[in-house]
Formats: sequence, C-alpha cells, structure tokens
Amino acid sequence: MHTKNLAGVIFAVLIISLVGFILYWGSIKPVSVIVQAGHEERVKGNTGATGFHYKETEWNTIVADEVAKQLTEWNIDVKRIPAKVPKFSRTKIAVSIHFDSAKKPCRSGASIGYPNKNSYDFARRWEKLYRSHFPFGWHEDNFTKNLKNYYAYKKIDAEKFLILELGEITCEKQTVWLQPRLKKIAHLLAYAIASELGKEVAKPKL
Ligand SMILES: [Zn+2]
Repeated sequence: MHTKNLAGVIFAVLIISLVGFILYWGSIKPVSVIVQAGHEERVKGNTGATGFHYKETEWNTIVADEVAKQLTEWNIDVKRIPAKVPKFSRTKIAVSIHFDSAKKPCRSGASIGYPNKNSYDFARRWEKLYRSHFPFGWHEDNFTKNLKNYYAYKKIDAEKFLILELGEITCEKQTVWLQPRLKKIAHLLAYAIASELGKEVAKPKL
C-alpha cells in the first residue's frame, strides 16, 4: 500500500513537472535574433585570440554591439549576449562573432561554422556578401573543431546559427584592413541578417 502511494506521488510529480516545463517553454517568447560576442566576459578557459595590437574579445564586442544597434534601428528584436548563454534561449537567427588566430601569422582568414544544414544557405549568402569586400583568404565551412562543435549550438534553440570568423587578428595585413572597418562590417552583417528575416533594408556600403 505504502509503495503504491509513493509510486503514485512520484508519477504525479513527474507529470506536473513535465506540464510545467512545457508551459514555461511555450511562454518564452523567442527573439528574432541573438548576437553573441565570442569569449566576452570569460576570464578563464577559451578567452579568445590576442594579436600584436588587438584583442579578439574587444573586436567581437565592437562588432556585436554595432550589429545589435543596427538591427534595433531597423525594428528587429535582438538579444545581445556574452560568451555565457542565458538559459532557454530561443531565436530564429543566432550569430556569434569571432576573429581567428594562426600560429604562423596570415595563414588564416575568414570562415563560417554552423551546426547543421539548416544554416547552409544563410552561410553561402554571407560568404558571397563578405567575400565581395574581404580581400584575404577564406577557409571551408567548419574547418576547426571549435566551429563544428561550438558549445552554444546546444544552448541556443536557433533555426539558423552561424559562427563567423571575420578575419585573422594575428595577421597585421588583415588587421590594417579590418580595424577601420569594424562597424561597417557590422552593418553588412546586420543587413545579411535582416535580409534573411525577409526584411527589406538599404544595403550598406563598406
Ligand atoms: Zn574566437
């Protein structure tokens, strides 16, 4: 008798928890866009690349802030997040901003990572857009483990998710080109995101 009651109570608690979770999950309104500055606010672990003159996190922050600002100006709801992903993040488009580093300077360049095929077409559109400006090398998609298995893929429920390496911060030639264009690159990315959401906005010049 006692065991039977206990089993019943456990079952009831499980059912109530499940229903509660489903209701809670349904009540979280997904934002259209999540923009992450890679490594931001990390003090240990993977704190990002360091070049001769610049730190990756500083550039990630500048670009991510500007992307969020531009999207907000276009009336697109956006959540700007650091490396630590808030619980239960849901979105249509997630973008994480990074700059690559290389042991031998200037061996790297721009690249894209994504978790699955859903993001493939978006990746191609971004590549086409950025390649028409970025005058340095380009790697194939998911060319590193970090791009292929990015930790936030599992933490953000996104319809499309791109990790963007926007250039190599350890290559002086690239930083000379990148540094004065960071905000313009952000506008280009905001434009790509807005277009992906079906919003018509003016194409920025780089
Ligand atoms: Zn990075």
